[in-house]
Amino acid sequence: MIVATALRWLRHVATLALLVALALVVFLVVRPAPQDLPWTPLRLDQPPGLFTGRKLAALGRDAPACRALLRDAGLKFAAVPPHGSDQCRMQDSVRIVPRQDMLVLSPTVATACPVAAGLLLWQAQVVQPAAQRLLGTTVARIEHLGSYSCRRMYGRSGGSWSEHATGNAIDVSTFVLADGRRVSVLRDWSRDDARGRFLHAARDGSCRIFATVLSPDYNAAHRDHLHLDEADRGDLGWRACR
Ligand SMILES: [Zn+2]
Repeated sequence: MIVATALRWLRHVATLALLVALALVVFLVVRPAPQDLPWTPLRLDQPPGLFTGRKLAALGRDAPACRALLRDAGLKFAAVPPHGSDQCRMQDSVRIVPRQDMLVLSPTVATACPVAAGLLLWQAQVVQPAAQRLLGTTVARIEHLGSYSCRRMYGRSGGSWSEHATGNAIDVSTFVLADGRRVSVLRDWSRDDARGRFLHAARDGSCRIFATVLSPDYNAAHRDHLHLDEADRGDLGWRACR
Protein backbone atom coordinates (compact mmCIF):
# COMPACT_ATOMS: atom_id res chain seq x y z
CA MET A 1 0.00 0.00 0.00
CA ILE A 2 2.70 2.46 1.05
CA VAL A 3 4.86 1.42 -1.89
CA ALA A 4 1.97 1.90 -4.34
CA THR A 5 1.26 5.41 -2.98
CA ALA A 6 4.95 6.35 -3.16
CA LEU A 7 5.13 5.11 -6.75
CA ARG A 8 2.06 7.17 -7.67
CA TRP A 9 3.61 10.30 -6.16
CA LEU A 10 6.87 9.61 -7.94
CA ARG A 11 4.97 9.38 -11.24
CA HIS A 12 3.32 12.76 -10.58
CA VAL A 13 6.64 14.41 -9.73
CA ALA A 14 8.30 12.92 -12.82
CA THR A 15 5.46 14.17 -15.05
CA LEU A 16 5.70 17.64 -13.53
CA ALA A 17 9.48 17.74 -13.98
CA LEU A 18 9.07 16.66 -17.60
CA LEU A 19 6.53 19.44 -18.25
CA VAL A 20 8.77 22.07 -16.66
CA ALA A 21 11.75 20.85 -18.71
CA LEU A 22 9.62 20.91 -21.87
CA ALA A 23 8.43 24.47 -21.14
CA LEU A 24 12.05 25.53 -20.58
CA VAL A 25 13.14 24.02 -23.91
CA VAL A 26 10.26 25.74 -25.76
CA PHE A 27 11.16 29.06 -24.07
CA LEU A 28 14.83 28.71 -25.01
CA VAL A 29 14.05 27.73 -28.61
CA VAL A 30 11.32 30.33 -29.23
CA ARG A 31 13.12 33.10 -27.27
CA PRO A 32 10.16 35.48 -27.01
CA ALA A 33 10.86 39.21 -27.33
CA PRO A 34 10.70 41.21 -24.05
CA GLN A 35 7.43 42.87 -25.12
CA ASP A 36 5.83 39.42 -25.50
CA LEU A 37 6.47 38.52 -21.85
CA PRO A 38 4.22 39.64 -18.97
CA TRP A 39 7.00 40.34 -16.44
CA THR A 40 9.38 42.58 -18.43
CA PRO A 41 9.22 46.37 -17.93
CA LEU A 42 7.39 48.35 -20.59
CA ARG A 43 9.56 50.36 -22.98
CA LEU A 44 8.28 52.76 -25.60
CA ASP A 45 11.16 52.11 -28.02
CA GLN A 46 10.14 48.48 -28.59
CA PRO A 47 7.53 47.35 -31.08
CA PRO A 48 4.20 46.50 -29.45
CA GLY A 49 3.99 42.89 -28.31
CA LEU A 50 1.57 40.48 -26.68
CA PHE A 51 1.57 42.26 -23.31
CA THR A 52 2.19 45.88 -24.36
CA GLY A 53 -1.49 46.87 -24.20
CA ARG A 54 -2.01 45.39 -20.74
CA LYS A 55 1.14 47.05 -19.41
CA LEU A 56 0.05 50.42 -20.81
CA ALA A 57 -3.45 50.16 -19.34
CA ALA A 58 -1.97 49.14 -15.96
CA LEU A 59 0.01 52.42 -15.90
CA GLY A 60 -3.29 54.07 -14.94
CA ARG A 61 -2.59 52.71 -11.43
CA ASP A 62 0.98 54.03 -11.31
CA ALA A 63 1.21 57.70 -12.30
CA PRO A 64 4.92 58.18 -11.38
CA ALA A 65 5.91 55.16 -13.52
CA CYS A 66 3.84 56.46 -16.42
CA ARG A 67 5.41 59.92 -16.30
CA ALA A 68 8.90 58.39 -16.00
CA LEU A 69 8.18 56.35 -19.13
CA LEU A 70 7.25 59.50 -21.08
CA ARG A 71 10.33 61.32 -19.80
CA ASP A 72 12.63 58.40 -20.70
CA ALA A 73 11.19 58.42 -24.21
CA GLY A 74 12.15 62.10 -24.53
CA LEU A 75 8.59 63.41 -24.63
CA LYS A 76 8.00 66.90 -23.28
CA PHE A 77 4.74 67.30 -21.38
CA ALA A 78 3.07 69.33 -18.68
CA ALA A 79 1.34 67.65 -15.76
CA VAL A 80 -2.27 68.85 -15.57
CA PRO A 81 -3.78 69.52 -12.11
CA PRO A 82 -6.62 67.14 -11.19
CA HIS A 83 -10.09 68.45 -11.97
CA GLY A 84 -13.69 67.25 -12.18
CA SER A 85 -15.38 65.12 -9.56
CA ASP A 86 -16.72 61.61 -8.93
CA GLN A 87 -16.84 59.55 -12.14
CA CYS A 88 -15.56 62.54 -14.11
CA ARG A 89 -12.41 63.11 -12.10
CA MET A 90 -9.43 63.68 -14.37
CA GLN A 91 -6.36 62.75 -12.42
CA ASP A 92 -2.70 62.33 -13.34
CA SER A 93 -3.24 63.64 -16.84
CA VAL A 94 -0.63 65.22 -19.07
CA ARG A 95 -0.60 67.72 -21.91
CA ILE A 96 1.93 66.75 -24.57
CA VAL A 97 4.13 69.54 -25.89
CA PRO A 98 4.06 69.06 -29.70
CA ARG A 99 7.33 67.85 -31.18
CA GLN A 100 7.52 67.32 -34.92
CA ASP A 101 9.89 64.36 -34.67
CA MET A 102 7.74 62.63 -32.03
CA LEU A 103 4.09 63.41 -31.74
CA VAL A 104 1.94 66.35 -32.72
CA LEU A 105 -1.69 66.24 -31.62
CA SER A 106 -3.96 68.90 -33.01
CA PRO A 107 -5.38 70.65 -31.09
CA THR A 108 -3.07 70.10 -28.11
CA VAL A 109 -5.00 68.23 -25.48
CA ALA A 110 -4.72 66.81 -21.97
CA THR A 111 -5.17 63.04 -21.72
CA ALA A 112 -4.67 60.42 -19.04
CA CYS A 113 -0.99 59.50 -18.98
CA PRO A 114 -1.44 55.94 -20.37
CA VAL A 115 -3.23 57.36 -23.43
CA ALA A 116 -0.32 59.76 -24.05
CA ALA A 117 2.14 56.84 -23.77
CA GLY A 118 -0.02 54.74 -26.10
CA LEU A 119 -0.23 57.52 -28.68
CA LEU A 120 3.53 58.00 -28.60
CA LEU A 121 4.12 54.29 -29.20
CA TRP A 122 1.39 54.09 -31.87
CA GLN A 123 2.79 57.08 -33.75
CA ALA A 124 6.36 55.72 -33.78
CA GLN A 125 5.75 52.01 -34.31
CA VAL A 126 2.54 51.88 -36.33
CA VAL A 127 1.45 55.18 -37.87
CA GLN A 128 4.76 56.41 -39.31
CA PRO A 129 5.89 53.04 -40.74
CA ALA A 130 2.43 52.58 -42.35
CA ALA A 131 2.51 56.11 -43.80
CA GLN A 132 5.94 55.55 -45.28
CA ARG A 133 5.04 52.14 -46.66
CA LEU A 134 1.62 53.00 -48.09
CA LEU A 135 1.68 56.76 -48.74
CA GLY A 136 5.38 57.42 -49.32
CA THR A 137 5.57 60.16 -46.70
CA THR A 138 5.28 60.77 -42.97
CA VAL A 139 2.47 62.02 -40.75
CA ALA A 140 3.04 65.59 -39.56
CA ARG A 141 0.15 65.73 -37.13
CA ILE A 142 -2.79 63.75 -35.82
CA GLU A 143 -6.08 65.57 -35.52
CA HIS A 144 -8.67 64.46 -32.98
CA LEU A 145 -12.18 65.20 -31.76
CA GLY A 146 -11.27 65.35 -28.06
CA SER A 147 -10.32 63.33 -25.03
CA TYR A 148 -11.93 64.45 -21.75
CA SER A 149 -15.70 64.59 -21.76
CA CYS A 150 -17.88 63.93 -18.71
CA ARG A 151 -20.34 61.49 -20.24
CA ARG A 152 -21.62 57.94 -20.14
CA MET A 153 -21.05 55.47 -22.97
CA TYR A 154 -22.81 56.46 -26.21
CA GLY A 155 -23.90 59.69 -24.52
CA ARG A 156 -26.77 57.87 -22.74
CA SER A 157 -28.28 59.16 -19.50
CA GLY A 158 -27.66 55.83 -17.70
CA GLY A 159 -25.23 52.92 -17.83
CA SER A 160 -21.45 52.71 -17.72
CA TRP A 161 -19.29 55.79 -17.80
CA SER A 162 -17.19 56.35 -20.91
CA GLU A 163 -13.40 56.26 -20.65
CA HIS A 164 -13.66 59.84 -21.97
CA ALA A 165 -15.09 60.80 -18.57
CA THR A 166 -11.58 60.48 -17.10
CA GLY A 167 -9.60 61.51 -20.20
CA ASN A 168 -8.54 57.88 -20.66
CA ALA A 169 -9.58 57.91 -24.34
CA ILE A 170 -9.09 59.94 -27.50
CA ASP A 171 -11.02 60.08 -30.78
CA VAL A 172 -8.63 60.35 -33.74
CA SER A 173 -10.23 61.80 -36.87
CA THR A 174 -7.56 62.82 -39.40
CA PHE A 175 -3.91 62.31 -40.25
CA VAL A 176 -2.22 65.33 -41.86
CA LEU A 177 0.75 64.23 -43.97
CA ALA A 178 4.08 66.01 -44.30
CA ASP A 179 3.20 66.88 -47.92
CA GLY A 180 -0.03 68.56 -46.82
CA ARG A 181 -2.46 65.80 -47.84
CA ARG A 182 -5.17 64.90 -45.35
CA VAL A 183 -6.34 61.35 -44.66
CA SER A 184 -9.69 61.42 -42.93
CA VAL A 185 -11.48 58.52 -41.25
CA LEU A 186 -14.85 59.86 -42.41
CA ARG A 187 -13.90 60.34 -46.06
CA ASP A 188 -11.22 57.72 -46.70
CA TRP A 189 -12.01 54.68 -44.50
CA SER A 190 -13.93 52.76 -47.18
CA ARG A 191 -11.73 53.73 -50.13
CA ASP A 192 -9.97 50.87 -51.90
CA ASP A 193 -6.72 52.80 -52.23
CA ALA A 194 -3.57 53.70 -50.31
CA ARG A 195 -5.41 56.07 -47.96
CA GLY A 196 -7.99 53.44 -47.04
CA ARG A 197 -5.28 50.83 -46.53
CA PHE A 198 -3.28 53.25 -44.39
CA LEU A 199 -6.26 53.90 -42.11
CA HIS A 200 -6.91 50.17 -41.71
CA ALA A 201 -3.23 49.56 -40.94
CA ALA A 202 -3.32 52.33 -38.31
CA ARG A 203 -6.42 50.74 -36.75
CA ASP A 204 -5.09 47.18 -36.86
CA GLY A 205 -1.75 48.23 -35.37
CA SER A 206 -3.42 50.07 -32.52
CA CYS A 207 -4.99 46.90 -31.15
CA ARG A 208 -1.85 45.74 -29.32
CA ILE A 209 -1.41 49.21 -27.78
CA PHE A 210 -4.87 50.31 -26.67
CA ALA A 211 -7.37 48.38 -24.55
CA THR A 212 -10.34 49.37 -26.69
CA VAL A 213 -10.25 50.35 -30.35
CA LEU A 214 -13.48 51.22 -32.14
CA SER A 215 -13.49 52.20 -35.82
CA PRO A 216 -16.14 52.73 -38.53
CA ASP A 217 -16.26 48.91 -38.75
CA TYR A 218 -17.86 48.91 -35.28
CA ASN A 219 -20.88 51.16 -35.81
CA ALA A 220 -22.12 54.34 -37.45
CA ALA A 221 -21.31 56.41 -34.34
CA HIS A 222 -17.63 55.79 -35.14
CA ARG A 223 -17.82 56.57 -38.87
CA ASP A 224 -15.63 59.67 -38.47
CA HIS A 225 -13.04 58.60 -35.90
CA LEU A 226 -10.99 55.87 -34.25
CA HIS A 227 -11.82 55.63 -30.56
CA LEU A 228 -8.68 54.60 -28.65
CA ASP A 229 -8.71 54.06 -24.89
CA GLU A 230 -6.60 52.51 -22.14
CA ALA A 231 -9.40 51.08 -19.98
CA ASP A 232 -7.76 49.14 -17.17
CA ARG A 233 -9.72 45.94 -16.72
CA GLY A 234 -7.02 44.03 -14.87
CA ASP A 235 -4.94 41.23 -16.30
CA LEU A 236 -7.84 39.14 -17.52
CA GLY A 237 -10.19 41.89 -18.65
CA TRP A 238 -11.52 41.90 -22.20
CA ARG A 239 -9.96 43.95 -24.91
CA ALA A 240 -11.84 45.06 -27.99
CA CYS A 241 -10.64 45.87 -31.48
CA ARG A 242 -13.31 46.46 -34.09
ZN1 LIG B 1 -14.26 57.94 -28.08
